[in-house]
Amino acid sequence: MVFRGYMFALRPTARESELLAQAAGVCRLVWNLALEQRRDHWRAFRANTGGHLTYVTQSRELTRLRAEVDFVRAVSQTAQQYVLKALDEAYRRAFAGLGGFPQPKRKGVHDAFTLNGRELTIERLNRRYSRVRLPKIGWVKFRATRALAGKVVEATIAHTPLGWQISFACKSDGAAPDPGGAVGVDRGVAVPLMLSDGTAFQAPAALDLLDRRIRKAQRIASRRRRGSRRHARAQRRVAALRARQARTRKHWAHETTTAIARRFGTVVVEALRTRNMTRSAAGTAETPGRNVAQKRGLNRAILNVGWHQIETMLRYKAHRLLTVDPRHTSQTCSCCGAVDNRSRKNQASFVCATCGFRANADHNAAINILHRGNTPVVEPRIAGASKRELPSLEIPAL
Ligand SMILES: [Zn+2]
Repeated sequence: MVFRGYMFALRPTARESELLAQAAGVCRLVWNLALEQRRDHWRAFRANTGGHLTYVTQSRELTRLRAEVDFVRAVSQTAQQYVLKALDEAYRRAFAGLGGFPQPKRKGVHDAFTLNGRELTIERLNRRYSRVRLPKIGWVKFRATRALAGKVVEATIAHTPLGWQISFACKSDGAAPDPGGAVGVDRGVAVPLMLSDGTAFQAPAALDLLDRRIRKAQRIASRRRRGSRRHARAQRRVAALRARQARTRKHWAHETTTAIARRFGTVVVEALRTRNMTRSAAGTAETPGRNVAQKRGLNRAILNVGWHQIETMLRYKAHRLLTVDPRHTSQTCSCCGAVDNRSRKNQASFVCATCGFRANADHNAAINILHRGNTPVVEPRIAGASKRELPSLEIPAL
């Protein structure tokens, strides 16, 4: 079974936009009502009915609400049931300690609803556009940039700073074919992704360009008076640019991870804690604020590339994903195995202080990562200590 997500820009008419906003609004209302019921009225509910508030009991309440209120009935019931299911799941996660407790949804922030794939009909209109029939809304055009593979399981329609978007979750039968072989992937600094076979994936130039445009838009917004209409417009521009950057980043992540998963059956990556690395830019106890500016630039590059996203994609696209201990992968010589931080000449090049092996630093690290995926982890040998110098086991004399 292969799951795949597709996101397209919807091109609704003014009337359709109104209906989409109405559907999102009613779903938000259902969420907020159901949340309030769970949070504030569960005791009364138990006293009256003897039961607990669950997805099932709240679904029954929803049926009653739909019978009584016209504008709730005017919106797809499955979309509302998805809301209750999501709330139930959020509570389950919160009680299991996996996440915070669900919060109320706000207009302008959470404008989305989900529909079941069985209720949808999709038709190709021409080379650029397709249309989808949404229950209680009708046919809505969308910009079809890719063909859908498999069966649509569900679709989420959301309002973003770039307008209405639709994302389809598709399921196709049969496991992903295993192309065999293995590759180590270094999420590097000089290049965002470097493979152990020497392939380097460069980040799209558009990301950097958008970064500059975002900072410029932020400066403009900060100069304008808070609460003014011009300030709000400038803020909207920042949000739209951010959304575009996120979309570009995601597109690139999809392209590269698909390319990697097609060529290699086993993908080995470092288990990286991006959040910890980011936090340390403020300086630690031993090195307060050292290289903060340099590190901040590096961190921005890391976050820009979206490593977590890349790992998540590889996890479902690759036949097998291994995560290995990230310690010393950039200081270890992939040729002789010596660990020495003097070998790392600079960000870009690696010259082994022990055997003189030279390589691109990210490429060297990618090979180490592949090695770790193939072999059980052993303590790295200390620089300068060859096999001969390691203490040998002495057989005690009888
Ligand atoms: Zn070496």
